[in-house]
Amino acid sequence: MSECIFCKIAAGEMGTEFLYEDDQVVAFRDLNPVAPVHILVIPKRHIPSANDLTEDDNDLIGHIFGVIRNLAQKENLDQGFRIVNNSGREGGQTVQHLHFHLLGGRQLHWPPG
Ligand code: AMP
Repeated sequence: MSECIFCKIAAGEMGTEFLYEDDQVVAFRDLNPVAPVHILVIPKRHIPSANDLTEDDNDLIGHIFGVIRNLAQKENLDQGFRIVNNSGREGGQTVQHLHFHLLGGRQLHWPPG
């Protein structure tokens, strides 16, 4: 997916600072943070959205949630945090490469818009 911005970020082509990297995922700060802590965790492999996941990806998703938990601890989000995945147009997804937002550092409200 040569035109996918998150594929380029994951490949290290954008010079993005990674908060975490392994063979499956990278984590980096969102360009337009909506909370004091706003981190994106993405698979390196191009998966367009949550709607494209298969059972083969179950371990990957479990791994991503472990990475998010470790990042939340590193960012001192001991008062709580939110994990968000927007999927599809009505879900508000703007980048067509699966990603999970880790949000924290302030009181978050519900329901989202
Ligand atoms: P979503 O609306 O759920 O698809 O989220 C996409 C997120 O990616 C938004 O919060 C954007 O601010 C963020 N974003 C887009 N381009 C970049 C980039 N180059 N580096 C970091 N974050 C980005």
